[in-house]
Amino acid sequence: MAFSSISAFAGITYFDFGSTADPGGAIFSDIDGVIWTNRGPLGTYLVDETEFQNSIQILRRLVEKTQSRNVVFITNHTAVARNLKAFDEFEYRVRELFGNISQILPNVLYLACLHHPAAQNEHLRVACDCRKPKPGLITFATNYLNIDFSNSIIIGDKISDIALASQVCISNSYLVFNEESFTGLNVEAEEIYLSKLAGINFTAVRSLQQLVEKEIKF
Ligand SMILES: [Zn+2]
Repeated sequence: MAFSSISAFAGITYFDFGSTADPGGAIFSDIDGVIWTNRGPLGTYLVDETEFQNSIQILRRLVEKTQSRNVVFITNHTAVARNLKAFDEFEYRVRELFGNISQILPNVLYLACLHHPAAQNEHLRVACDCRKPKPGLITFATNYLNIDFSNSIIIGDKISDIALASQVCISNSYLVFNEESFTGLNVEAEEIYLSKLAGINFTAVRSLQQLVEKEIKF
């Protein structure tokens, strides 16, 4: 089992929890607001273990239902950019939380954009191509695992996650809807996203549990 990560701060930070290139579909899942309740930039360090494990079990059911070969977590993580945590703490926490779930889920890849254009941490003050809704994280995963988009789904809690799905032409997208789904966008950005959403099918659900009960067709 491979455990590798690259933290070339200018690039994508990734943790490979035992993945092998597999030309099957993927479940792309956001983390904050999907896998656990959004607790802001420090969410990763404040996780309710029961909630987390429940979500992983639901993802397991979703993997079986969709016959997905890969599970790719995609997240904008800003605690390091904000100097709220050191990179080492972030890395330790990701390994602690996600290192064991490769026994439950196939081909687990964890991808994070640590950047922010106004980061306090000058090493992460980058206008990058990987901060969602830019497509860098998904592009990376595709090249890394040879993923088949036509058999993939994307799950997010923000309308920007759905916009991301549309940019990379993943037609199965799911919005786990909460009170923050439309916040964090300025008016102009929101209009852009909404115009991009015209004609795009996405399904809004209240929870991962509700998602797994939906009929999913490719
Ligand atoms: Zn980035």
